[in-house]
Amino acid sequence: MTATKLMPIPGHIDPVPVPRPDLVEGITPREDGRVDLIGLPKKRIAELFETAGLDAKAAKLRAKQVFHWLYHRGVTDFEAMTDIAKTMRPWLAERFVIGRPEIVEAQHSSDGTRKWLLRTADGHDFEMVFIPDADRGTLCVSSQVGCTLNCRFCHTGTMRLVRNLTAGEIVGQVMLARDSLGEWPKSGQADLAALDDDLVDEDGGYSADGRLLTNIVMMGMGEPLYNFDNVRDALKLVMDGDGLALSKRRITLSTSGVVPKMERCAEEIGVNLAVSLHAVTKDVRDEIVPINKKYGIEELLQACADYKGASNARRITFEYVMLKDKNDSDEDARELVRLIKHYKLPAKVNLIPFNPWPGAPYECSTPERVKAFSNIVFEAGISAPVRTPRGRDIDAACGQLKTAAEKKSRAELERLYAEKEKALG
Ligand code: SAH
Ligand code: SF4
Repeated sequence: MTATKLMPIPGHIDPVPVPRPDLVEGITPREDGRVDLIGLPKKRIAELFETAGLDAKAAKLRAKQVFHWLYHRGVTDFEAMTDIAKTMRPWLAERFVIGRPEIVEAQHSSDGTRKWLLRTADGHDFEMVFIPDADRGTLCVSSQVGCTLNCRFCHTGTMRLVRNLTAGEIVGQVMLARDSLGEWPKSGQADLAALDDDLVDEDGGYSADGRLLTNIVMMGMGEPLYNFDNVRDALKLVMDGDGLALSKRRITLSTSGVVPKMERCAEEIGVNLAVSLHAVTKDVRDEIVPINKKYGIEELLQACADYKGASNARRITFEYVMLKDKNDSDEDARELVRLIKHYKLPAKVNLIPFNPWPGAPYECSTPERVKAFSNIVFEAGISAPVRTPRGRDIDAACGQLKTAAEKKSRAELERLYAEKEKALG
C-alpha cells in the first residue's frame, strides 16, 4: 500500500483572508465574500470602504472616485480606475466586484429593436428591450422576474412571480445597454459634455444629441410599484448627475394601478407616470386588469389627479390596449374622454394594438376600429397616438415578454390566475 502524501499544488496561494464587510446592514456579500457595488448609493459605498479599513475621510473620497468610474464611465474593472493609486486597485478587487447581469442571448429585430435575455447571479432569466427611433432611443427595463398580477392580455401575467430584481439588477440593465451600444464617454468626453450646454438639459441630464439611449421606461417584466424600494434606488442612480445622469423627464414608470404606492412614486422618485388603464367600465377592467377588483377605476383616477409629478407639461400617459370587441367601441372612447375630463387630468392616451402570444384569449382590434377610437379621443382635445408595435418578430413588443416560454393549458392558466387573485386579496 502506498501512502499518499498531499503535495502542495505548485503556484497555489491560499486566498487572502478578506474582512467580510457584512457588518454593513442590509448588504449581503457574494459567496466568495466580495460585495457587488452596483446598485449602491455613494454613501453606502463609503460605509463599506470604512468597514473594510479606510478612515472616514479616505472612504468618502474613494467612494466619490469609484462611483464616478462605475456610473459615469462604465468601467467593469478596478484596474481601469486611473486616478486611484495602483496599490489601492487590488485592495478594491479583493473585496468588491462590479457586477452586470449575464447576457444569455441577444436578438435583433428587422425594425432595429433589440432584445436581451439576461440572467441573475442566482440563475433567473429576465428580459430587456431597446427601441431605437429617429429622435430617441428607449430602453424598456424589467423590475421583476415574472409578475404577481395577471392581466389577461399580458404574457408576463402567465408567469408566477419568481422574485423582485435588486436595485443592482435594475440599474445593471441600463449599464449593460450602454455597454452594448458602446455609449460610455471616453476619457475627457464626459466632462466636456457636462460643460456643453447643448448636451445638457435643464435638469443637468444628457439631452438626445449624439446619444442612442435617451429614454427609459419601466415597462418590461413585472409591476414596478410592487418592487418599490429597489426601483426607486435604481432610478436614483440613473438620475444622479454624478451617476448615469439621465433626466427624470426622460424616465417613465408604468403601473397597472397600485394606488397606495402612487403618492410615494411622485415624492420619492418623481419620474413621469404611465397608467395601464385599458378599460373604462368596472366589468371589463375587472376582467382584463384584475387588480381593478382591489383598486377600482375611480380610486385610480383620483390618485392620478393627486399625482404630484404631473402637470400640463408632464402629462400622465394612459395606456390602452386595443382588444377586439372587448374595450374598443365608440362608447368606450367617449367614456374615456369623460373620465379624463371629469378628473381634470393632464393626460395623453397611448393606444397599443394588442400584441398576440401563444394561447392569448384576445384578438387585436381592426385598424379601422383603432383609428375611429383614436379620432374620438383626439377630437376631444386629448392626444391619442396609435403605437406602432416594435420588435414583434422577436417577441419584444409590449406584453410579449416571458422567459422559459412553455405554453400553459387553459386549465393551468385558470388555476394560476385564481391563485394570483387569491394572493391579491
Ligand atoms: N406592469 C406594468 C408595466 C409593464 S407592462 C404595467 O402593467 O403597467 C407595459 C405595458 O404593456 C402595459 O401598459 C401593459 O398593459 C401593456 N401590455 C401588456 N401585454 C400587452 C399585449 N399583449 N399587447 C399590448 N400591450 C400589452
Ligand atoms: Fe404584470 Fe404589467 Fe403584465 Fe399586468 S400588464 S401582468 S401588471 S407585467
